[in-house]
Formats: sequence, structure tokens, C-alpha cells
Amino acid sequence: MTRVFNFSAGPAALPESVLRTAADEMLDWHGSGMSVMEMSHRGKEFIAIHAHAEQMLRELLAIPANYKVLFMQGGAIGENAIVPMNLLRGKASADYIDTGEWSKKSIKEAKKYAKVNVAASSAEQGYTCVPPRASWTLDPEAAYVHICSNETIGGVEYHWTPDTGAVPLVADMSSDILSRPIEVSKYGLIYGGAQKNIGPAGLTIVIVRDDLIGQALPITPSAFDYKQQADNDSMLNTPPTYAIYIAGLVFDWIKARGGLDAMATHNRAKAAVLYDYLDKSAFYSSPVKREDRSLMNVPFKLKDEALDEPFLKGAQARGMVQLKGHRSVGGMRASIYNAMPIEGVQSLVAYMKEFEAKHG
Ligand code: PMP
Repeated sequence: MTRVFNFSAGPAALPESVLRTAADEMLDWHGSGMSVMEMSHRGKEFIAIHAHAEQMLRELLAIPANYKVLFMQGGAIGENAIVPMNLLRGKASADYIDTGEWSKKSIKEAKKYAKVNVAASSAEQGYTCVPPRASWTLDPEAAYVHICSNETIGGVEYHWTPDTGAVPLVADMSSDILSRPIEVSKYGLIYGGAQKNIGPAGLTIVIVRDDLIGQALPITPSAFDYKQQADNDSMLNTPPTYAIYIAGLVFDWIKARGGLDAMATHNRAKAAVLYDYLDKSAFYSSPVKREDRSLMNVPFKLKDEALDEPFLKGAQARGMVQLKGHRSVGGMRASIYNAMPIEGVQSLVAYMKEFEAKHG
């Protein structure tokens, strides 16, 4: 068996040890005689798996007791509608910060439910940076301020937490959750799809301050009403049981590796290998402003677009896959989430050097 270095933006590489544990436990989870996939979500076995996953997430992120952890479905795109449906709380408008493709999607969807004020945008800079906090025109009456903490396509990441005063900060953290420690109490709500740093697609994580829930719009589907889900331990409907189980194994893996401080060190070191080389090379370039570069998704361009296909082919032949940039921006993108070992990035840079020597 040969495993590749998988640079996919998501669904993305998972820790190999997690996959091995899942394989070992596939037919018989802990002597239950069942696969986790076959268990009733209301049975004692799955309830223990679910409670463990929540407990581990709380521990890793040091989530305060007044925050609910919800395991939902619908993905981050679902949340683009679910957030305004739940968080408007009688207010008319919400503030959004526009930093790229994923912010744009959030804004478009929220407009179906609320008046949206785009309080800052980096569109004019071609989405290569985060607009400085001082330039934001926030409305003190807004229901919340929405950011995308890491633009998976553009490779732009907040390396600071915006202060939004009394207005709750809402963050789409789909692609950088668990990559570093965060102060949960600075946020009203954090959401993200699981398929990058957490586990399989199909699970959506929501962490929400408990005073913000319970005032969903009447049209809100019950399965997407945070209060109803919180009151039912995320089991108002059948939760994505297998994805929650794998997430729990990933949380155990993060803890065993030293938690989020260790993840942050590991992720900084990996990204530095790639950015240092991009900055030295005249053949490759990174479009993103230095201070706002993502540690998770590294887009880069080759000097000549005509070399993109040969570059990708050569990478594939060396066991490095999914490096093609998103169709909206072109070029390359290396997604280097928690599960990507530094050897993967070193091997990519070694190949990039070889390719540059040949074609530069
Ligand atoms: N937001 C961000 C930042 C993302 O990276 C993605 C997925 N790539 C989404 C939203 C959409 O997530 P989903 O497909 O799980 O709905």
C-alpha cells in the first residue's frame, strides 16, 4: 500500500493512525459486536462516543461552560443561512467582512434573511489581505459581525481576533479550526465543516454562546434551530454518527500530540518551509500579503501558466496530489492542515526546486 501526500483543500488528509484505529474497530467497536456505523444514536455505546467527542473538543479549545457545542449537518454553506435565521434576534441587520470567495457566499446567503452591511472588504486588493480593523464601518445595532477566519481559496487568514465590542463576533472557521489555540470567549459563535481539520464531511461543528440562542426566526427548520438542538444534545435528528466518532479520534490524536499549542508550532514550521521558498524564488509567487498569509492553504503561481499542467503531472508522479488551485483563482494551492506532516511540505519544496531548475 502506498499513501500519497494529499494537499486537498477538503475533504482533506486525516492522520494515518486515526484511519488505522477506525479500520481496527470497523467490525467491532470495543467489544460491542457492532460497527459504529451500525449503532443506534440513542444506544449507550454511541452516547459515550458522542460525549467523548464533545468533551475532547471542549478540552482542546478550552470552551467556557456558557457555550453550547452542537454537532450538526448542512456544512458551512448550510450555516450561511442557519446563522442569520438563529442570530438576528429581532434585529434587522448584520455586519459582514468580505475577504474572498467564502465571505462572498456567506454574504449572498445572509441577504435572504437580513439586511447585510458589508463593513469592510478587500475586493479592491483582489482579496489578498484582511482589511485592517480601523477601516471597518461597524454598526453598533447589528445583530452580529461575521468573518471568515481563513479563506480556503484565497489563502488569507486572520492572525488576530477582531474586537467587535458588544456585538457578537461570528466566525466561519471551517479551514483553520483546531490549527491553533483561540480564545472562544471573544466569539459569539464559531462554525465549520469537519472535512479539513476534524474528520469526514457531513459533520458541522457549531460553538455558540448560550445567551444568543432561543430566538430563531419562526421559519427556521427545527433541525437547524440551535436551541432545539442544544436542548436535545444535538440529537433532535439522527446525527452524523460515524463522522462524530472519527472526529473524536482526531481530537484524541491532537491531544496526544500536545494539543493546540503543539499544532500551532507544527503548522507554523510547515508553512514557513513553503513560504520561505516562495519568497526566495523568482519562478513561483505567493499573491497574499505577508501578514495575512494562511498557514493552512498556500496558493501560489508559476511564472508561466503553460507550465501548470506539467507541474501537476510531475507532482502526481512523485506521490503529491490535489495541488491544483481553485478554478476561480487558478495556479496552485497546497493545503497543509494539521494532518499533513512536515515531510509532505519538504517533499513538495524539493520537487518545486527541481521543477524550477528544469524550467526556470
Ligand atoms: N467556508 C469555508 C471557509 C470553506 O472552506 C468551505 C468549504 N471549502 C465552506 C465554507 C463550505 O463548506 P461546506 O461545503 O461544508 O458547506
